[in-house]
Amino acid sequence: MKNNRTRKLKKIRDEVLNLVNSPLYEYRKKNNYYPVLGKGSHFAKIVFIGEAPGRNEAETGHPFCGAAGKVLDKLLESVNIKREDVYITNIIKDRPPENRDPTTEEIKIYSPFLVQQLKIIKPEIIATLGRFSMEFIMKLYKLEDKLQKISLLHGQIFEVDTSWGKTKIIPFYHPAVALYNSNQFDVLKSDFQAL
Ligand code: URA
Repeated sequence: MKNNRTRKLKKIRDEVLNLVNSPLYEYRKKNNYYPVLGKGSHFAKIVFIGEAPGRNEAETGHPFCGAAGKVLDKLLESVNIKREDVYITNIIKDRPPENRDPTTEEIKIYSPFLVQQLKIIKPEIIATLGRFSMEFIMKLYKLEDKLQKISLLHGQIFEVDTSWGKTKIIPFYHPAVALYNSNQFDVLKSDFQAL
């Protein structure tokens, strides 16, 4: 029998599958894409939050399974953390056309699913990947006054109170930055030590 968390997460998946009001729904259907809800342990102590699925992710339904995912795998390996022990998700659950930035409207439509996922998994650490998830999570947990450019905040640890207790938020650069700039991989690797 499935545990309670898995049952609740599956319910969220069903809601997103039928999200006909989303501006990304038609694009998903037209391309036979899957929504990407998240993958990993439903009892994870660390939840990673990326931006939105790319093509590989939308074709498989799994987060971070393309080039950026390989970078994430290397980073996790560098700190001896197994992918199956963490939970990896995104703010936006459907692929935006041509991987464009998510719109404010899309963040508004999809972020409540992320908030529900966090309340179910109750992580000790929320690791944001990239500017969009950093901004969303910092605003959600009343850290607006600390919000600055990601170049100033990456690798820092913020402690917040959540409905399930104290949680740490750590903003990281998005792993995709290391695809275009190898120095950025070293920065990410050094920041991952915080985990
Ligand atoms: N980039 C993201 O932000 N999320 C993914 O799942 C893949 C690439």
